[in-house]
Amino acid sequence: MAPITRTTQGTAPAGAGALLRFPLNGLNFAINAMVTPVSTVTMKEPMSSSAAARYEAVIGLEVHAQLATATKIFCGCPTSFGAPPNTNVCPVCLGLPGALPVLNRAAVELAVKAGLALNCNIRAQSRFARKNYFYPDLPKGYQISQYDEPFAEHGWVDIVAGGEARRIGVTRVHMEDDAGKSIHEGFRDSDLYSYVDLNRSGTPLIEIVSEPDMRSSDEAYAYLTEVKQVLQFIEASTCDMEKGHLRCDANVSVRLKGAAELGTKAEVKNLNSFRFLKQALDYEIARQVELVESGGKVMQETRLYNPDSGETAAMRSKEHAHDYRYFPEPDLAPLRISAAWLEELRAGLPELPARKRARFVAEYGLPGYDAEVLTATRAASEYFETAARASGNAKMAANWVMGDLMGMLKAEGKEIAESPVSAAHLGELVKRISTGELSGKLAKEIFPKMFSTGQAPAEIAEREGLKQISDTGALEKVIAEVIAGNPKQVEQYRGGKTTVMNFLVGQAMKATRGQANVAVVTDLFKQKLG
Ligand SMILES: [Zn+2]
Repeated sequence: MAPITRTTQGTAPAGAGALLRFPLNGLNFAINAMVTPVSTVTMKEPMSSSAAARYEAVIGLEVHAQLATATKIFCGCPTSFGAPPNTNVCPVCLGLPGALPVLNRAAVELAVKAGLALNCNIRAQSRFARKNYFYPDLPKGYQISQYDEPFAEHGWVDIVAGGEARRIGVTRVHMEDDAGKSIHEGFRDSDLYSYVDLNRSGTPLIEIVSEPDMRSSDEAYAYLTEVKQVLQFIEASTCDMEKGHLRCDANVSVRLKGAAELGTKAEVKNLNSFRFLKQALDYEIARQVELVESGGKVMQETRLYNPDSGETAAMRSKEHAHDYRYFPEPDLAPLRISAAWLEELRAGLPELPARKRARFVAEYGLPGYDAEVLTATRAASEYFETAARASGNAKMAANWVMGDLMGMLKAEGKEIAESPVSAAHLGELVKRISTGELSGKLAKEIFPKMFSTGQAPAEIAEREGLKQISDTGALEKVIAEVIAGNPKQVEQYRGGKTTVMNFLVGQAMKATRGQANVAVVTDLFKQKLG
C-alpha cells in the first residue's frame, strides 16, 4: 500500500490547514467495501395498498450523539467545529504508537446524565472495548467503544405518534470515540485522492440503541424528536444535525401483521435529518413489502439513503460484515460510577420535556399543541415561563411567544436565546394588554419597536405617546365628530342596522391612531345614539 502523504499542495480550501491525502488506488479494497453498491433491486409493479395494509414495519434506531464537552474523550484536544483541518490533534487522537488514553470526566458525566434521562439503569462498573477495523480516518486501527458492558441499559422513551402514546425501549447506551472525516469530493484531484481531516478523531459520542419497538416512520420520527429534546434539555449534546452532532441509522424489517417472528432486517444509513429519516423509512418499508409480496426475499444488508433520489440502495451485504474482534481496552481501567456520584448527577437533572409538557397543560391550562411548541427547546420553555409569570395571563403570553416573537425571530434567523425582547418585557406587554392599559392594536405597534430596540414596552409607549385613551371626556369629542361626519351611517344604525357600529368604532379608532379604548368607545356610541 502507498504511504500516507501529508500535503498542503494547492487543493485545500483557502485558509485550511494541512489535510492528509490518500491515493485512491492504494485504498481500493477499503473504498469499494464501503461505498460501492453490491446489488440493486429494481421494482416495476406498483404495490396495491391492500397488500401494504397487511404488513407492519419493525424499526429500531441507533442514534449517535456528540457529547458537548470542550475537549475530546481521551485527550485534551478541543472539540471545536470548523478549525483548520488536522489542527485539533495530538499523539493520542492521531493514534501514534505509545500514546495512552485518559478518560475525560466531563464526557462521562454527560453520558451518565443522558443514560438517566433515558430512564436507563446505570452500571456501577462498565468497560471500554476495542472495536477493530481499518479505515483511513481511523488512525488507531480501532475505535474505543463499549461492547458487552455498556454503562447504561434497559431504558425507555415515551412518544406520541398519530395520537397514540407508546413506550419505546432503549436497549443500551454506550460511550465511544468518533473517527476522523474522509473527504471524497470537492477537490480538483478527488478522482485520484481522498482527503482526511482528523480534527473529529477522538470526539466523545454516545450511541443510543433502541429496541425494535417502532412500527412506522412517524413513530421513528417521534422517537428521534424526543431523544433529541431530552439530550438538549440536559445539555448533553447540542444535537446540531448540520454539524453531525446527531446521526441516525435505522434497522428495518417488515412482517405480516400479527406474525410473531421478525422479518430479515436491512440497516439504513445516512439518515442525517428528520426529513431524510422519514423519507428513507417510508421508501424502505414499501420496498420490502413489495419485495416480499412478489415472492422475493429481503437481504440482510446495509443500505445507504440517497436524499437526491429519495431511495435506499444496497451498500454492502452483511455476509461481508466486519468482524470487529472486540476485546477489552487494555489501556483503560474499568469505569466505576459510585452510587454517590450517580445520585449527584440524578439530582442535577433539569425537568425533562415530557414532564414539562404535562405541567404546562396542568398548571397554565395550555392546549397540548401549545405545550409542545413551547417545550421544543429548553430555552423556549424557560422564556415562556418567565413571560407567563410576569404577565399573569399564561395563555395570552403563550400566543405572543408562539406568534409575534417566534415569527420575528424566524424572519431574522435568530434563536430564542438571542431574542432582543426579554421574557420580562414581553410579560410586561401582555400584562398591560390584559389589564386594559394597552389595546391589542397598540401592543402590535409597540412590539416591533421592542424587538428592534430591546426597550421595555412602558419606555416605548411613553416616548411615542402610544397610550390607550380610556378617559370618556377626551373620547366624547371624537365621538361627536364621528357622528357629525357620518350622518348616513348614523341613520342606518338608528334604523336598526346595528352592524354599522363596527364602522363607527373604526372611525373613532382611526381618529385616535388606534389609541382609543374600544370598549369605552362602543359604550359612548351606544349612549349617544340611543
Ligand atoms: Zn488529541
